[in-house]
Amino acid sequence: MRALIIVDVQNDFCEGGSLAVAGGDAIVPLVNRLAQGFAHVVLTQDWHPAGHSSFASAHPGHQPFDTIEVDYGTQILWPDHCVQGTRGAAFHTKLDVPHAELVLRKGFRAAIDSYSAFFENDRRTPTGLAAYLKERRLDRITLCGLATDFCVFYSAIDGRQSGFEVTVVTDACRGIDMDGSLANAMRSMKEAGITILGH
Ligand SMILES: [Zn+2]
Repeated sequence: MRALIIVDVQNDFCEGGSLAVAGGDAIVPLVNRLAQGFAHVVLTQDWHPAGHSSFASAHPGHQPFDTIEVDYGTQILWPDHCVQGTRGAAFHTKLDVPHAELVLRKGFRAAIDSYSAFFENDRRTPTGLAAYLKERRLDRITLCGLATDFCVFYSAIDGRQSGFEVTVVTDACRGIDMDGSLANAMRSMKEAGITILGH
């Protein structure tokens, strides 16, 4: 059975948000339309406590988009975004997917960032999504949302490694594209056997 996973379509990643992805708003009608074709839909929601370790503001002397080394590798420092309970963390107001069955929150551990819907950035701490999908026999997943080269990309790779058949609908995604990250993500997804639909 198929499930659609809509990644992080939240105000802070859309126009006017603190970590706006160019064209993020433009995907919302496409995402809504895509969701109508799925009986089973999961929404992911980036959900950080204030002062989260992925925020540049938590690291004196650093600016957003700097990188630092942490226990689990290199971490990009982001502007404060998707703080629990704030308007920025809420789903885009035009996102219209009332039949979504699960809202999966990630990034709530203060010391670990979480791009992937399946594992936090230490690549070991599971979010529980793989077990949820497997128990419900949802073995084919389609991904869309924000951002193509971060949360969608890591979710797609981890989904594939967790044994799911994975499709990414690129027209219903937008990327951040830092230092060639978008091209790298597209290449890695193709190499991993992920089906890419769109341009
Ligand atoms: Zn985040």
